[in-house]
Amino acid sequence: MKLVNFRFDIGADGVALLTWDMPERSMNVITPQVMDELDAVVDAVAADPAIKGCVIASGKNAFSGGADLSMLQQGAAEYARAQKTEGEEAAKKLFFDTSRRLSQIYRKLETCGKPFAVAIQGVCLGGAFELALACHYRVMADDDKTKVGLPEIKVGLFPGAGGTQRVARLMQTGDALQFLFRGEQAKPKAALGGKLVHEIAPRGEIIERARAWILAGGKAIAPWDAKEFKNPSGKVFSPTGMMIWPAANAIYRRETYDNYPAAKAILHAVYEGLQLPMDQALTVESRWFAHILRSKEAAAMIRTLFLSKNELEKGARRPTSVAPTHLKKIGIIGAGFMGAGVAYVSALNGLEVTLLDRDQPAADKGKATIDALISGSVAKGRATAAEKDALLARINATSDYAALKGCDLVLEAVFEDRDIKAEVTKRAQSVVGPDVIFASNTSTLPITSLAETTLTPENFIGIHFFSPVEKMLLVELILGKKTSDRALATALDFVRIIKKTPIVVNDTRGFFANRCVLNFIREGQIMLTEGVPPAMIENVARMAGMPVGPLSLNDEVALDLGWRILTATKKDLGPAAIDPAQERVLHYMVEEQGRYGRKNGKGFYDYPAGGKKTLWPGLSALATTRLDPETLDIAELKQRLLVIQSVEAARTIAEGVVTDPREADVGSVLGFGFAPFTGGAISYIDGMGAAAFVALCDRLTEKCGARFAPPQLLREMAAKRESFYGRYSAHQHAA
Ligand code: NAD
Repeated sequence: MKLVNFRFDIGADGVALLTWDMPERSMNVITPQVMDELDAVVDAVAADPAIKGCVIASGKNAFSGGADLSMLQQGAAEYARAQKTEGEEAAKKLFFDTSRRLSQIYRKLETCGKPFAVAIQGVCLGGAFELALACHYRVMADDDKTKVGLPEIKVGLFPGAGGTQRVARLMQTGDALQFLFRGEQAKPKAALGGKLVHEIAPRGEIIERARAWILAGGKAIAPWDAKEFKNPSGKVFSPTGMMIWPAANAIYRRETYDNYPAAKAILHAVYEGLQLPMDQALTVESRWFAHILRSKEAAAMIRTLFLSKNELEKGARRPTSVAPTHLKKIGIIGAGFMGAGVAYVSALNGLEVTLLDRDQPAADKGKATIDALISGSVAKGRATAAEKDALLARINATSDYAALKGCDLVLEAVFEDRDIKAEVTKRAQSVVGPDVIFASNTSTLPITSLAETTLTPENFIGIHFFSPVEKMLLVELILGKKTSDRALATALDFVRIIKKTPIVVNDTRGFFANRCVLNFIREGQIMLTEGVPPAMIENVARMAGMPVGPLSLNDEVALDLGWRILTATKKDLGPAAIDPAQERVLHYMVEEQGRYGRKNGKGFYDYPAGGKKTLWPGLSALATTRLDPETLDIAELKQRLLVIQSVEAARTIAEGVVTDPREADVGSVLGFGFAPFTGGAISYIDGMGAAAFVALCDRLTEKCGARFAPPQLLREMAAKRESFYGRYSAHQHAA
């Protein structure tokens, strides 16, 4: 048996140890070759009378992150090829057989007659945890780094290698459904409590414990294959079952608004599977899995949230001509809300930070914010007291510019004021020198013009964070006209160190993310003036797949900020550049009513101290007409909220602000939660086709106004039947 990805040793006691340790990879993943080797090992263990049983362990720090999702993308390509050459039926069969292969290998392992035990350390996710679930005994390392889970739902899939069936036979049905729907990761104690593992032990002992279980006569029969097995929640058709299933269906609808076929497939697979013996149940699961694998939603989510995200994080946009930088110390000027957040994530990832503000108390206030953040992590058991001390020791809070000396990168996050920014940049450059890369976290000021206030515009770049910095994954890098490759490479290296996902855009008002999301917010305000009931606006947005409604979102980012941006835009670009309905809404809310959003407890919602927020009744004054909610076209309202963002994303590509559709998609989902099941603002257009999207825009333009007018680029694409991804890869190949 020739193995590349595993080591296989048979001990003198007759227990085999299979160590998963893929060469040239930092993490084990499931590939076709891994499947072949695992298949061969199961046969060898079953056939060799000298082997009593087998322990599966990892040779790396982590067990495995699960399947290589690019393998699934290849499956879709093979399907398309077989469909052309052999016809639809043959293609379906081939696809079904290929997509259930892992499930069948695991079932063979489970029923081969020899006991298998698994020793889990580090993350054990997706298909790898399904392997563990197929083993007869599971020992898990009892440490913070070890977690098990089935996160497939997060990329539009579901666990299709037995996960839905085995979890639903280990846990109460309600708990199992939650675990599968949420795709969360369970730490050792939770996993033990939830019966997902049998034993937890110190990391150094897990293999021995697994081996001991086999030597003590561990049985090679899964609980569900034993005659006396009963589902933890009883039969589906039973009084308890009737309590669970109608509620489960309602929860599914509440959580997904029927936008996620994979979540629905989980319901089906568990509901149908629990009524069958394991082998048939696994076939049912495989049928749903093949169906979901071919869904538009899974393809879009895998592309954006896995493949493109990884490519961007690994430096898809990094200029190759620049040698890797080795950032050790960074300077942050402005220790306010954003500056403190950036300092925190920087120090958390090992960088030395000089955090500078106008005076010592202001700088100390920023450090206190960081102290509160890390203390919260310690209280939740996510960090130790020693880690907290080390992190705080890496941050020097000061008002002395001399402390910036030796910084490899300086970022300013002072007030949004051109003159203040120019002044702090000048002072900092006089200490660190003109060669050090300088960045601004501005959200609205053009980078090119800020760069002109520095000694070296080529060393200047925008690094735009989203709030709260510690939670938001996206960072937008903005290139000024003169920004050099070295500045971009340095900024990307910084973003990589702090483990965020970068997109790179050219300079424009609002950059990428804010341009799109401000359109979403404005559409909600316009709907208010049309007389759409506020609660309906909020619900329709969630039904369309947005995480929160436009009114809630506006309250979070502050209405007075929106009002300031609108008045500045009107001043700079003239009255035609703003929407009069929006001007009326914001003037009324901010100037007349003093309602600034969550920050003063009064916005589109009221925020009673300690109570739940409720929509402010005064909003009715904004409606120019009274619409009967029964007559409103919900589908059209949903479309308006997504189209208004996507058409703006298309404009950013037409204008050359965004140059790669992957960045628009990743940026829209990570930056402002654009309906993830679509794969992002550009995949939403590609998904329906440019021609259909243009027709939709034209219809909405006629009905609602010119803000829906598609750019010329989209009309050309519609005529040529092109997609954004098709055009982009054609350019890539031509380059
Ligand atoms: P903030 O008011 O919380 O913090 C600004 C800090 O800068 C304050 O601590 C202030 O004392 C300090 N400061 C002001 N003048 C200074 C000077 N001359 N020298 C040194 N320090 C000085 O503001 P914020 O929300 O953190 O925003 C900072 C920047 O980040 C702005 O450019 C803003 O547009 C941008 N931004 C904000 C957000 C957000 O959601 N708040 C998001 C992205 C970008």
